[in-house]
Order: sequence, then C-alpha cells, then structure tokens
Amino acid sequence: MAALPVDTPHGLKLKAARETIAELRAAVLSGELTDTALLERGRVSALLSSRLAALNQPSLRPVVNATGIVVHTNLGRSLLPECIFPALLEVAGRYSNLEYNLEMGRRGSRYAHVEDLLCELTGAEAALVVNNNAAAVLITLETLAKGKEVVVSRGELVEIGGSFRIPDVMARSGAVIREVGTTNKTHLEDYEAAIGPDTALLLKVHQSNFSIVGFTKSVPVSNLADLGGRRGLPVFNDLGSGVLVDLSRYGLMHEPTVQEALASGSSVVSFSGDKLLGGPQAGIIVGKKEIIDRIKKNPLNRAVRIDKLTLMALEGVLRLYRDPEKAVKTIPTLNLLTQGLDDIRPRAKRLLARLKALKLDCLDLGFKETLSKAGGGALPLEEVKSVAVTVTPKKGSISTAAIEEALRRNRPPVIVRVEDDAILMDVRTILPGDIPVIAAAFDRLSSVRNVS
Ligand SMILES: *Cc1c(COP(=O)(O)O)cnc(C)c1O
Repeated sequence: MAALPVDTPHGLKLKAARETIAELRAAVLSGELTDTALLERGRVSALLSSRLAALNQPSLRPVVNATGIVVHTNLGRSLLPECIFPALLEVAGRYSNLEYNLEMGRRGSRYAHVEDLLCELTGAEAALVVNNNAAAVLITLETLAKGKEVVVSRGELVEIGGSFRIPDVMARSGAVIREVGTTNKTHLEDYEAAIGPDTALLLKVHQSNFSIVGFTKSVPVSNLADLGGRRGLPVFNDLGSGVLVDLSRYGLMHEPTVQEALASGSSVVSFSGDKLLGGPQAGIIVGKKEIIDRIKKNPLNRAVRIDKLTLMALEGVLRLYRDPEKAVKTIPTLNLLTQGLDDIRPRAKRLLARLKALKLDCLDLGFKETLSKAGGGALPLEEVKSVAVTVTPKKGSISTAAIEEALRRNRPPVIVRVEDDAILMDVRTILPGDIPVIAAAFDRLSSVRNVS
C-alpha cells in the first residue's frame, strides 16, 4: 500500500487491494498459480499499482476506428468538428443563458438557441430538439395520436437496432397502429381506405437501414400530404438519418433531405443529430408551428429534454451548414464519407510505410481495395470504394485472432476488421493522428517479434 500515490482515496485503495487479492486467490485455487515466488511482496505491490492505474482510467475513452464504418453506433457515431470545441469548453464550466432571455431579462427557452437556425436551414415554421430520434418519434406520436389510429405501410415497420421498433414505439406512445399495404407494395388507395373516424395521423418512415427491391411500390410523401390535406390529417415523416445537403452532389446516393421532406408537404419531420447530420446525439423535430407548439407543451418533453452541452454542440454543427460546401469539408462524418480514393491512398501509404519500418517478419503487409459503409442505419446500399491496409500472419506464427485482441487491448484500443484470416484496416475512418498510434500498437505486439 505504501507504494501507492499518497493522495489515493482510501476506498479506492481498498477496492484495488481486494480485487488484486481476489484475483491471486482465484489463480491459486484454480491451480493456475503454483510458484510462490509470484506471491512475493514486490510483485503483489506491482500488481496492485497496475490495478489502481486501471481503476483510475476513464471507462469511456477514445478508440481508433479502422473498420471503415463511418457512423459506427458502437464506436460513438459522429465525431464532432474540432472548430466547435472551444465554444463547448467555454459553456461547460460557466453559467450560460441556457433558459434565460437576455433581451427581456426573464426566463427563456432552451430551444431558442437552435430553433431559428433549424428553420433557416430547413424552411420549417418551427423546431424542437430532444434527446434522440427515438424520443422524437415517441413524443410526436404521443402528442398527435395517443388513443387514435396511425396509418403506416407494412413496408415501413422498421427495426433500427437496440430494440427500437416502430410498432413497439407506437404501442408505447398509446397510438394504435393501422397497417396498410404489403411488405413490397403499398398504394395510395390503401391509405385512403384505412382512414376512418379514429384516424389521427399518416406516418411515413424512411427505410433507412434496408431496401426492398424488385416488384415494389411505395407512396411518395407528397402524395400522402395531398391525401392528408384532403382528409384533414397531418403527415409525420420519420426520416431516420436526416441530411441537410444533397449527398448525390458529392458522389453518394441521393438520400431525401429534410428540406425536401418539408417541401413535399410533411407536417412534421424527425431525424437524428448524430447520423449523417454529423452532430451530437439528438432528435430534431421540425414542421408546422401549431404541431411543434403542441409537442413542446407535452409533459413528456421534460423527460426527453436535451442537455446543454449537447445543445451547444448541435448549435455549433448546425451553424456550419450555413455554408454547405464548407460543412461537407469540416463535419467529420460528411468529410470521411465523401473522401475519394485520392484522399485515402496517401494515408494508406503512410500507414503501410510505418508498419513496414517495424520489420515484423512474421507478418505480410499490403494494400487492398475495399468498400466502406456509411453505417448508423443510413445509406444501406451505399458502398464507397476505399483502401485497406492488410496484415496477414505467416503460417505457423501468430493468429489473426490474437492480433485482433492485442490491438483491441491496446491503449488506445484499435478496432479492426478480420476478413479471410487477415487483419483489414479500412483507412477511410483512420484519422491522420491515428497512424502513429496504430504503428505503436503493432510495435507492442512483442509476441509477433518472438515468433519471428
Ligand atoms: C436511427 C433511426 C431512429 C432512431 O434514432 P436515434 O437517434 O438513434 O434514436 C428512428 N427512426 C429511424 C427511421 C431511424 O433510422
């Protein structure tokens, strides 16, 4: 204990000591540890120190994403643009006008900081932001259709992952689902025939993470909006990812933009902040003022409220969209997704050169063309050409599984793909600063050296 830093809290010392002893005891009992020299004071003290260091390490920490999946939900989805960091830090440690109207000198609205901006960028009458898009869908359905029927196509009953399913969320909102059409084909007449005295809403869900191809038909939101207009029903469009720039201008597939969804007559549109928008986790709701006002007044709104740091980050990212060309360059999600092979190849070359310089004799190193994915339940059919650095262990040396594990346990962890018994590092999502980190991780693979 005396070897531990003096300012270590007593409880933490105790926890580290108990865990160290428990681990040694288990090793003795299982017969794994038989050499009593390993139980000597100096060695136990060293184990205790490293256990304490591990306990002091933040659990949530940066990793290197070498998977090529740009919006990787398990790896934190979108990276925030560096240019907004100073403003974020400033607000984090100080009082702010979060809910204080500085003009009037009285209570203000936390949504005011992004509402005008969202209206300006999308052409909406009003806007509201909540915790995430799942919350946005829940509160919108609850506000507009609790105890009433919502008409939705059978081809749009999406599961997003992490147990978010449209029919389940609808049930939780108290709305009654009225499925129409079939898996592959839904016609406008199907919606029309389903409308009755209990109908409150027509719902359109963007098939963000899958595609139905072949003999198919779905109803464009503009036709739904006409129908809604005739029958006095609002149309809610869950766009899922939600983009503010036309990605087809940058060589990607066309993804319906928020502006288009509103221009097509959707009464209310919801989308995520951290998918293709490239911001923090948030759910953004834009649309008719009368509807947004009702959602704002819903008591559930307090339960799905957005936090001030998130709000600050969202405002910073949205401001960048005032100049779409610049947004595509400075917002990492869009920048990484729209990089061409000419942008990626030089990084791949640099990484390969760094790895070759390590002279790890039992590994074959090379390049390979590969396909990156957008991820995050967006652009499911899009496969963007990319370059991967491949690492293939020579026969009889280390296994790919062992390399994968060592890289994952590295500080910081390096997350890779394993394909055809080779380690594949898609350079699209490898940031310039990651290259020395990956090289150092391979250098630490001392077992590789031993084998060679
Ligand atoms: C991703 C997605 C959601 C959920 O959004 P989160 O921001 O992850 O909560 C809801 N609907 C659709 C269609 C989606 O693609």
